[in-house]
This record gives sequence, C-alpha cells and structure tokens, in this order.
Amino acid sequence: MAREGMMRVAVVGSGALGAAVADELVRRGLSVVVCTAEKSRPPVTDAAFGWLNSHGSAAEPPSDARDRDELARSLGALRNATATSPLRSIITWNGAVSWASTAAATARFAERSGPGVTTVEAEALRQLLPGLRVLPPVVAHASDEGMVEPDDLRRAFLSRARAGGATVVATRVDRIRARRAGGYELQGAGATHVADRIILACGTGLPALAAQLGEHIEVPGVPAARFTFTAPELRLDRVMSTPDFEIRPSARHGFVGAEDVVPGETETATRARVHTSLSAVREAFGLPREPVLRNVTTGVRPIPPGNGLLCAPLASAPGVFALAAHPGVTLAASLALRTAEHIEKS
Ligand SMILES: Cc1cc2nc3c(=O)[nH]c(=O)nc-3n(C[C@H](O)[C@H](O)[C@H](O)COP(=O)(O)OP(=O)(O)OC[C@H]3O[C@@H](n4cnc5c(N)ncnc54)[C@H](O)[C@@H]3O)c2cc1C
Repeated sequence: MAREGMMRVAVVGSGALGAAVADELVRRGLSVVVCTAEKSRPPVTDAAFGWLNSHGSAAEPPSDARDRDELARSLGALRNATATSPLRSIITWNGAVSWASTAAATARFAERSGPGVTTVEAEALRQLLPGLRVLPPVVAHASDEGMVEPDDLRRAFLSRARAGGATVVATRVDRIRARRAGGYELQGAGATHVADRIILACGTGLPALAAQLGEHIEVPGVPAARFTFTAPELRLDRVMSTPDFEIRPSARHGFVGAEDVVPGETETATRARVHTSLSAVREAFGLPREPVLRNVTTGVRPIPPGNGLLCAPLASAPGVFALAAHPGVTLAASLALRTAEHIEKS
C-alpha cells in the first residue's frame, strides 16, 4: 500500500527487465506494483541461454549497432545488484571463451572489445578448457563475464522487490488510460490499478500498450532456441562460443546451449541444427559418446530496431517509460538503474 503522497509506479512485465527495475525502484523507496501476464505470456527470459555477455562473441559477426557504453556498464551493475542476499552467488563469474573461424578474426574481435577481452594461445587455453581435444590457435577470453539461470535471476529480483514492499499482481494489462485527475489507470482481467508512473517492460507486448497511449513503437520478436543436454564426460566451467556451438555448464540441467532459429522454420529443422551442434561438442572434446539432448525451447527475443535498446519516456504520455533491450538479461541491472533515475527525476 502506498503511503500518502508517495509516487506510485506500475511496472508492466516481470521478465528480467521488469523484475530488475521493480527491485531497483523498491530499493529507492518508491511504491511499486508489478502487473504480469506471466502465466499466459511466459517471459522469454525463462528461455534464455544465460550468458552475461557484454562483449559479444568472436564467433558472431561484429555488430556496430551495439550500445557499447551500456553494455560496458552492465556487468558492474549486475555485480552490484547481486552483491547482497538473496542474490549473492546467483551468478557464476567464470568468464567466457570464444573464437572465430580464423585466428585473425579472433584477434580482431579481441582488439575491438577493449581491455575486458584478451587473446589466449593454445598452451594457456589448456588451463581454461582442460578437456578440449582440438585446440584452436588462439581464442578470445572475456574474464569479466558470467553465467546465470535467467529464470532464477528474474525470480530473485522479483522476490527481493516483494520483500521490500512491491505488490506483484498476476494480471495481463489490456488497457491503459490517462486519468483526468492525473496519472494512469491500468485495466485487465477485472482488476484496475492507478499509478503516477508506468514502466512498460513487457517485451513484445510493449507496442500494443504504447499504441493505446498514442505512441508507435516497434519491438520485433526474433526467435532463438535454448537446449539442455547431459554429457557425463564433458568438463567445462565457463561459457564457450565457437562457430560450431555455444554452450555453458548448468548445475540444474547439466549443460545449456543456444542455437539460432530461422524465422518460420519447423521445430524439426531447429532440432536437427541442435544435434549438429552436439556432434560438434563431442568432436571438440573427444567425448566417447554423443551428448544426450534433454529439451529444446524456442523463445522470441524482443529486439528494438537500431542498437537493440529502448529505454526512453513516451513523448505522447508523460510519466510512461518504455523499456526493452537485447541482450536483456545482461542489461537488466544497468537499465534498471537508468530507468529508476529517470523516474525519480520525472
Ligand atoms: C534462446 C535465447 C537465448 C538468449 N540468450 C541470452 C543470453 O545469453 N544473455 C542475455 O542477456 N539475453 C539472452 N537472450 C535474450 C533475453 O532472453 C531477452 O533479452 C530478455 O529476457 C528480455 O527480457 P524482458 O523482460 O524484456 O522480456 P520478457 O522476459 O519476455 O518479459 C516480458 C514480460 O511482460 C509480460 N507481459 C507481456 N505483455 C503483458 C501485458 N499486456 N500485461 C502484463 N504483462 C505483460 C510477460 O508475461 C513477461 O512477464 C536470449 C533469448 C533467447 C530466446
């Protein structure tokens, strides 16, 4: 319950971004209600790979569109946001290794990435990836990066927000309208909430709500797949991204991998690519048998056009803020800070 005169903030969505911003607002003493359609629209966060990746990967084409400043801030913000209980230890900061198909491209990636990424040659690589049978001549090592179970992270943010006084309401917001008396009314499934400020952190659901407030926003959904597998003989303690596969260890699943999805392709086609990745893992580590695939989940990533980052007030609706980003798990804590600062000043 909001104390009289206290600013009431409604956060729509409880994915990585909504949960992190709710936590940050509560820590600043604001009154927060989170409206989430989690049951009918599962957060894509729960299907993410879980690489806290601010530098990109040598295995992927370089992207000039990335917001390098925000990504550079992201790991520090995550470290701070998870420094205290109950989030402490939720992230494993073991770093990441990646390489491109040529040594020159790997070296170029490391050089472009700045001080967080160094190149490592075969001998030193044996210590980072002791089980690797086929050693590339050079790899890029991002020692400051980490990995996390993304659903654990968002739930931990949400539960800390709740413990700090936030109300979490399991309701889809269908309608938002400005009140004559000031502020906004959020309506959905029989419930109505009144708020002075709104943060739309509802991923691909954002454009529909922004349109009701007179703002045209695009947040295209781009599919990608996460898969889990077991491989008892595989020894790996960090994220590994190569032209043939992207995997990490997971205490819960054994191992987790990520795979691109061609929009519109069949599930069978995606699974076939996952199997090709697993064969490449077997080959790279010289495993005696094929890793066992557990499951494949396709998620639709909200990726705003341009640099993949939308963190701005709506021009048409004072006090309403739009928040969507890719990679959203990595950026959650830094964008939560930026959004909360904006809300406090507004
Ligand atoms: C296979 C895969 C791998 C990925 N790997 C990584 C990675 O390694 N690192 C990384 O940083 N990112 C990764 N991503 C991207 C990452 O998952 C997303 O950027 C991030 O989860 C987006 O978070 P979000 O909070 O914006 O959206 P979501 O998690 O989708 O949350 C949106 C929320 O809004 C709610 N909602 C929607 N509409 C409404 C409405 N009308 N009313 C109320 N609630 C509503 C939903 O229920 C949900 O709670 C990956 C994604 C995929 C699919």
